[in-house]
Amino acid sequence: MNNKQQLFKHTLEQTFSFSLNFNQLKDILRLFHEIKIRDGITEQQIISRLAVEPIIQNSNGRNKFVNIKRNLINLRFPLSSKNQAIDPGQIFLADLKPGLTDIHPKSANFIPEVIYIEEKAKNSYLSQRFAEKFPKTPITIINNCLEYVKNNQFDLKDLKKPIVFIVQENWDFIKPCPCTKNHIGCNYWIFNLGFGCPYDCSYCFLQQYTNFPGVVLPANLDDFFQKFDNFYQKINRPIRIGTGEFCDSLALDHITGYAEKLIEFFRGKPVYFELKTKSNNISNILKLKASKNIVISWSLNPESIVKSEELLTATLEQRLKAALAIQEKGFSLGFHFDPVIYSNNWQQLYQQVIDLLYSRLKPPFSWISIGSLRGTRKLKNAAELRFPESNIFYGELFLGQDKKLRYPKFLRKQIYHKMQEMIRAYDKQTPLYLCMEDADCWTMLNKDLNSSKKVEQYLLNQK
Ligand code: SF4
Repeated sequence: MNNKQQLFKHTLEQTFSFSLNFNQLKDILRLFHEIKIRDGITEQQIISRLAVEPIIQNSNGRNKFVNIKRNLINLRFPLSSKNQAIDPGQIFLADLKPGLTDIHPKSANFIPEVIYIEEKAKNSYLSQRFAEKFPKTPITIINNCLEYVKNNQFDLKDLKKPIVFIVQENWDFIKPCPCTKNHIGCNYWIFNLGFGCPYDCSYCFLQQYTNFPGVVLPANLDDFFQKFDNFYQKINRPIRIGTGEFCDSLALDHITGYAEKLIEFFRGKPVYFELKTKSNNISNILKLKASKNIVISWSLNPESIVKSEELLTATLEQRLKAALAIQEKGFSLGFHFDPVIYSNNWQQLYQQVIDLLYSRLKPPFSWISIGSLRGTRKLKNAAELRFPESNIFYGELFLGQDKKLRYPKFLRKQIYHKMQEMIRAYDKQTPLYLCMEDADCWTMLNKDLNSSKKVEQYLLNQK
């Protein structure tokens, strides 16, 4: 316990005439911290609020602690406490740790500080491209990327270092999107082209991979294409597939040239192939012949969130301008409101984004997804260390059945209902779907969508 925490303990014990054990103090410190950051108030202001609560004044011993904690939980979750009894088991109260400093990349211009190339990928086109584009960057040939990372100690502060691993992928070519336990998925397939991202979003689940730095890029695209052909022969039905689950599909396209190869391969195939991005890195795509089964999609958030939570990404304006160029070229478009981040004025902020979207672009689009902020406990811990200024994880997030933190059902339903209403005011046709949600939320949006199969059909048919 540091001096500040000792002083805090003393003040609290004096004010409320009780004593706190180690675990009790840990919970109280955490709740104070989150309320302070979220509401921009001082410790003393919180103490003053607690001091006037009769139930605290009139209780003794352990009950005093229980009532202080209960009151703090109500202050920490003001909306939820008015709507439902809060189960303390669904609250995540981790130890407080000081945030890291000087860990964010400074520039969106990605210049690798070292390039590791797996022996088997050393003669690949991708290795040549990196060598040509970054002649001053040292290149190290390694046997295997995973083995290298395991044997060299990396930690959270290395996460966004501009390190590149060019690899020969042997296993993870195509996989079903795992969605999450007890939720309705959309039967999306992941074309697993890359891991890691030069952008830096506070809510990005990649931060959980705390000991895996940089960006991993597979060089053997032809093997991916071969695997896809084999896979497709077996399933032989229309599907939605895309990159961008473990990376941004276009952030490094000016270096990798992946988009051209992917679009040439998927053009005209009976699948919807999606490239998902927060960039405006579309110049390679604009040189290509368009195809309607290629969907270029953008994640959208209010500009204030882009600035504070999506570091180094293109602005909202830049994303929409790029989307317009893509639409004019003849490709299909998709949009993802994911994650929607709740705040007191969330509705106004997202209304502005939707107004802007429909003032710039002509619907229908291939699809629009809506997802609300969510993440594991590990993600919250990492985000808190890397983004100590951010307060998005101090929103009303509770642990669900799948042990992920998410907004309570009533709030998620409110978000989805309102987002649907705002979008439908402009656009009756574009299929709307939810990301990682349960049947209750899905059927509120559309009563027919009560299984993954039906969601998949809905997304594939309404073009
Ligand atoms: S753009 Fe996507 S992959 Fe990249 S940091 Fe942001 S959330 Fe993560």
